[in-house]
Amino acid sequence: MKNFANLSQEELEILENSSGGITFDNADKMVENAIGTFSLPLGIATNFKINDKDYLIPMVIEEPSVIAASSKAAKIARIKGGFAVTADESYSIGQIQVLNANSSAISKIKESSKEILKIANSQSNTLSKMGKGAKEVSCREIQTDSGQMLIVELLIDVGDAMGANVTNSMCEAVSPLIEKLTQGKTLLRILSNYSTRRMVSARAVFDKEEVGGEEIVNNIILAYQFAANDVYRAVTHNKGVMNGVIAVANATGQDSRAIEAAANAYAARSGKYRSLTEWSKDQEGNLVGTLELPLSVGIVGGIINVHPIAKICTKILGVSSAKELACVITAAGLAQNFSALRALATEGLQKGHMKLHAQNLASAAGAKKEQIDEIVRKMVQENNISLNRAKELLDQT
Ligand code: NAD
Repeated sequence: MKNFANLSQEELEILENSSGGITFDNADKMVENAIGTFSLPLGIATNFKINDKDYLIPMVIEEPSVIAASSKAAKIARIKGGFAVTADESYSIGQIQVLNANSSAISKIKESSKEILKIANSQSNTLSKMGKGAKEVSCREIQTDSGQMLIVELLIDVGDAMGANVTNSMCEAVSPLIEKLTQGKTLLRILSNYSTRRMVSARAVFDKEEVGGEEIVNNIILAYQFAANDVYRAVTHNKGVMNGVIAVANATGQDSRAIEAAANAYAARSGKYRSLTEWSKDQEGNLVGTLELPLSVGIVGGIINVHPIAKICTKILGVSSAKELACVITAAGLAQNFSALRALATEGLQKGHMKLHAQNLASAAGAKKEQIDEIVRKMVQENNISLNRAKELLDQT
């Protein structure tokens, strides 16, 4: 990994020696009433080929087996060329809520859209210089229990940032003009996290024989049909997708709440909450998976350039744009979903999971590093994996 990602000695030391990368002083500047820091494991998923480029993918996650499962899925996907992923430009949507707008409000806003965009773009020299920034103004009326409201929306190309702050600044900056044009009162002025103008689509073909043969391919498709048609299953299915998505998002310093909120809304776009992935067979009987997500991520801004580990993880990934990062994150989500479905449709999750779970239990029971393997071995052999048993075995050592 050191050579693949060209990591310096200093970066390696940060990974190995710092307990999570930030000091208390850093934390104290990030949040209010800080009392400490909280670290999670960082691992690397291997074997990923995405749009013909090889990646080592950093994942921050506390759940055992996710990193191994992603790597295994990527290994199988590689046989048929890896993941093919496309991403939209990074358009963010800013919303301005207008109350008591007059009847000519929408036409006035349309007539003044150039002026509105000019004020919005005055908020970011960086984006303006890059030829990015606010591009369109649109209006929608919504009916509510408190009466009709006008929602003015800015479509903003935020380049390589998540773009939350710049979007919010632009919404606030244009609101005096919006009030003047509509004779109304603006209330909320904030980005929408439902980032449907930043869609990412991933596709991969999984070789029939490597998946385990025709019957397992068929069972995976049946498992997907369950998730596509039952909300109780769909939520768990999509949680598996998020295991991959959020682990990479965390490693690279993204706003994971924004990603999850958007993904869940998208899963329910038909009016019914469904699977985010789709699974089918190609003509040769190979398994084909797709994942489509609204995904708002950045390689600049937020904590991305502040958190030393997030910086190193972005370097390990070698991504040069927010779009490329979005492609990697979506591929990780699809890979993770494949592995979960394959395990569920064959031996069940627990076989792979429980050994790793047993390690956590042994550790929770107080076992030292050199005692853990033996306690795990005994619990697995006895098929009795529990905290009580781990404690008993520890007492016997
Ligand atoms: P940011 O405020 O740090 O802005 C990024 C800035 O980087 C841009 O404004 C631009 O000036 C500069 N920049 C340099 N090179 C760029 C490039 N190539 N492309 C684009 N910009 C470039 O970060 P942000 O992305 O605006 O905001 C992200 C943070 O905002 C996250 O921490 C998030 O949690 C937080 N936030 C989220 C919400 C929400 O999701 N509802 C609301 C408020 C804040």
